[in-house]
Amino acid sequence: MNFSKLPLSKEMLQTIDSLGYKNMTPVQAESLPLILEGKDVIAEAKTGSGKTAAFGIGLLQNLDVKKFRVQALVLCPTRELADQVAKELRRLARFQHNIKILMLTGGESFGKQLGSLAHQAHIIVGTPGRVLKHLSKESLELSNLKTLVFDEADRMLDMGFIEEIKSVLSFVPKERQTLLFSATYDDEILDISKKFQKNALHVKTTQKEGENKIQQEFYETNNKVETLIKIFATYKPKNIIVFTNTKLEAKELAESLVQNKIDALAIHGDLEQYERNDVLVQFANKSCPVLVATDVAARGLDIKELSMVVNYDLPHTLETYTHRIGRTGRAGAEGIAITLYDSREIEKIEPYEERQECHFLDTSILKNMQGFDMKPEYVTLVIEGGKKDKIRAGDILGALTGDTGLKGSSIGKIDLYDKQSYVAIENGLIDEAHKKLKNGKIKNKKFSIWIL
Ligand code: ADP
Ligand code: MG
Repeated sequence: MNFSKLPLSKEMLQTIDSLGYKNMTPVQAESLPLILEGKDVIAEAKTGSGKTAAFGIGLLQNLDVKKFRVQALVLCPTRELADQVAKELRRLARFQHNIKILMLTGGESFGKQLGSLAHQAHIIVGTPGRVLKHLSKESLELSNLKTLVFDEADRMLDMGFIEEIKSVLSFVPKERQTLLFSATYDDEILDISKKFQKNALHVKTTQKEGENKIQQEFYETNNKVETLIKIFATYKPKNIIVFTNTKLEAKELAESLVQNKIDALAIHGDLEQYERNDVLVQFANKSCPVLVATDVAARGLDIKELSMVVNYDLPHTLETYTHRIGRTGRAGAEGIAITLYDSREIEKIEPYEERQECHFLDTSILKNMQGFDMKPEYVTLVIEGGKKDKIRAGDILGALTGDTGLKGSSIGKIDLYDKQSYVAIENGLIDEAHKKLKNGKIKNKKFSIWIL
C-alpha cells in the first residue's frame, strides 16, 4: 500500500510525500501498478476514492516534459469536475518543472483557449464538447497523445456525451494507453471499454472502500420547506448541500429559504460561468451555509467536511442517491443525509425501506423552527484583479491588515483567479474591510472592490 514500492521518480515520491498521502487508497493500490506498466485499465471506484491521483500519477510519469506537445487528454463530464482534476494534476506536478496543463471546457471564451493552445501544453483536461470543437477546428492536435483518460465515464454517458466521445476518438492515435474510471459499471460502459480499450484490465474496489459513516434519515412531510428548516434547527449543521431535481426548484427553494432567514444560494445549469463561480466560492469559503443544487451542477464539487446532504427531491435512481449522500461523511468523518418525501412519493421510497441503514423518522422529533436563522460566518469581498495582475494572497492580506487594519484571524479563505480575487471576511467586519480596500492600494494599484 506504500507509494515507495512503485517505480516512481524521486520528484513524484517527494510530491506525494509533500501532499501528505501516506498510503495508497484501494483504487490506487490496484490500478497504479498496471497503469505504470502501460496497460489499459477500467476501474470502478467510489467518489472520493482518489481516482484522480491514480491516473494523474500514471500520466505524469509517462510524460516527456521536453517534448512540448499534448501527450495526455483527460475527458470529464463537467467544467467543475475538470477544474478539480486540473487542480489535483497541478498539485501532483509541482516538483516536475514546466509542465503545462490546460483546461478546455465549455462556458469559457473559445478565443482565449485558442490563444492558450497556440502556446502548446502537455496535458489537456476538458469536457467532450469543447475538446471536439477544438479538434474540428484544428486548434488542438493529438498525434503525440500517449494517455487518454475518461473520468466519471458513467456520468459522461448520462449526460449524453457519447457522440462527442466517439468523434474525439477519431482524432487520437491508435497506439496509446486508455484509462476508464466510473462509479458504476453497466453495459454501456463495458461497450465503451470494448470499443476504445485494448485488453483492459478490470479493477473494482467499491467493496474495500467500505461504507462511509453516514447517518441516513427519511422524513415524510407535506411541507418540505418547513421540515427542512426544522432539521437545520435540530442538527445545526455548518454547511449543507440540498439537492433538487430541477433548476427551477433549486432557484425557488433558495429563495424561500432566504425568506425564512436561512442564508442560501442556488447553483444550476442556467447560471453564467462567473455566477457559478461566485456561488461556489461563497459556499466553499463559508460565506453561505446552504447550497441548493441540481445533480449536474454539483458534480465534481469537492468540498471537504460537508456536514449534511439533503434530498429535497427523491433522486430518480438509487445510484444518484448514493452519489449524493457520499458527499458527506468523507474521510471517516460523520455525516448526515436527510431525505424528504411527501405522501405522493411513498411508492418511490420502497427500495430504501428495505435497507437497514435507512432510518424512517417522524417529524415530531424535530425542533421547532421559531426564531431560528442561519447566517454565514463570513462575507465575501471581490477584487477586480487577480493572478494576471500578479496579485498574491499575501498582497491582499497585507492590504487588509496593514497599519490600523483588520486582524489576520478575521480573514478567511482567499481565492485567486486570473482577473478576480475573492476574500472571505468575518461577518461583522465587512464594511470596515470594504472601506479599507477601496481607499487603499494592492501592489500599488487601485482595483474595483465590491461585496458579494
Ligand atoms: P475521486 O475518486 O472522487 O475522483 P479524488 O481523486 O478527487 O476522488 O480524491 C479525493 C480526495 O482524496 C482528494 O482531496 C485527494 O487529494 C485525496 N487523496 C487522493 N489520494 C490520496 C491518498 N493516497 N491519501 C490521502 N488522500 C488522498
Ligand atoms: Mg474524480
